[in-house]
Amino acid sequence: MKTIFEKTKNYKKENISIENKFGRKKELNLPNLPEIEVMRHYKELSDKNFCIEKGFYPLGSCTMKYNPRINEKVSSFDGFNLSHPNQKDEDIQGILELIYNLEKNLKIITGMDAITMQPCAGAHGELTGMMVVKKYFEKIGQNRKKVIIPDSAHGTNPASAAMCGFEIIEVKSNEFGQVNVEELKILLNEDVAAIMMTNPNTLGIFEENILEISSLAHKNGSLLYYDGANFNAIMGYTNPKLMGFDIVHLNLHKTFSTPHGGGGPGAGPVGVVENLAEFLPVPKIIFDGEKYKREYNFENSIGKVSTYFGNFGVLIRAYTYILMMGKLLKQASTDAVLSANYLKEQLKEKYYLPHDGYCMHEFVLSGDKQVQNGVHTIDIAKALMDKQIHPPTVYFPLIVHEAIMIEPTESETKETLDNFISAMKEIAEMVENNIDFGEFPKNAPIKRINEVYGARNLDLKQNEL
Ligand SMILES: *Cc1c(COP(=O)(O)O)cnc(C)c1O
Repeated sequence: MKTIFEKTKNYKKENISIENKFGRKKELNLPNLPEIEVMRHYKELSDKNFCIEKGFYPLGSCTMKYNPRINEKVSSFDGFNLSHPNQKDEDIQGILELIYNLEKNLKIITGMDAITMQPCAGAHGELTGMMVVKKYFEKIGQNRKKVIIPDSAHGTNPASAAMCGFEIIEVKSNEFGQVNVEELKILLNEDVAAIMMTNPNTLGIFEENILEISSLAHKNGSLLYYDGANFNAIMGYTNPKLMGFDIVHLNLHKTFSTPHGGGGPGAGPVGVVENLAEFLPVPKIIFDGEKYKREYNFENSIGKVSTYFGNFGVLIRAYTYILMMGKLLKQASTDAVLSANYLKEQLKEKYYLPHDGYCMHEFVLSGDKQVQNGVHTIDIAKALMDKQIHPPTVYFPLIVHEAIMIEPTESETKETLDNFISAMKEIAEMVENNIDFGEFPKNAPIKRINEVYGARNLDLKQNEL
């Protein structure tokens, strides 16, 4: 018997030509540093990052709520971490059960009849939803080419529909920041496959005519798609099914408290009404009363949209959050809406508020007053950084000039909200007193940069070692 060592030696000899072909030709140029120095370097870099654990993060449309530590604990259980999706169904029953139960909970929360966990982000959910729309019309033999999208929509909506080959038709908002129903009636015809809506919309305003819109869409034979990125405003109060939607995506990394930002993993489950269930991606998780299994054989499925289960780590965190919160999810929405209205009322004196009235979980100010003194929204955002506050979303939605979009979430204390109000008011007063704004941020690790230049001349490599 050869020892393992001898076997390894032979293996190496036999494969020597492969090694020569692919092997490293010269020594790696590694920095000659002790481990502790390297660790300190990376720690210092990470300290320069701003994150939700460090301070207020009112980034509109992104729902930067607190990510409870219990989510992290559960997602690090060995049973989850040490398993592999290529294992047999009987060996990963717990994993399949978790996905199945999360689907069940999200069906209750959205009112939808079937749901898939595969998509890895909101935009990916939109793409999946639009593929379902396409497949549905193929099956019923209609060649509809257009998708109607409001002018307030997130840019991913038209992008996703266009990627599926649809032509985009824009419908304008009215003076209340809601879809103009009269214009919508004119745009609707037998060429329209779907209307994509966000409700509350990206102005933080609830579309009050949603029932009329859904009835118009359905009378026209079109489907109604729900962008669920703003779901944090309505949990437990209403749901997309009650509003008449046929297809829904959720952003688990927004509403259901999984960490996001910096392009990290997300999850964008897609729910549909009964008559669209057959088109959802595979695998579907089936429970026969005893065992869970993956099922791939569905004739009309759009097929696979991601590897294995999608981003399973995100699913564990969202499921943990939902179980922990239970009926308190409704309270989360209540508090998120209350916080947003509080900030809006406090700030509307110093900043122009284009759409006054009750808002949902977020609202959009305009920097128009400050522009008169030569200060733009971007300058206000940079000045906030020096006050240890992450800037709100700026210049979106596109229909508000110099937009400043603020979403406080339910996580923050009144003290934090009051601190933000003071910071915003102080900045507005600086503008009134004509204090020079060019140099903000003064105290951040990286000072004012030329963002347009940076975006157009992206250099991810930095210096060669
Ligand atoms: C965040 C967001 C999206 C896109 O979701 P991702 O998960 O970032 O891909 C779409 N629509 C709205 C309104 C959003 O806020």
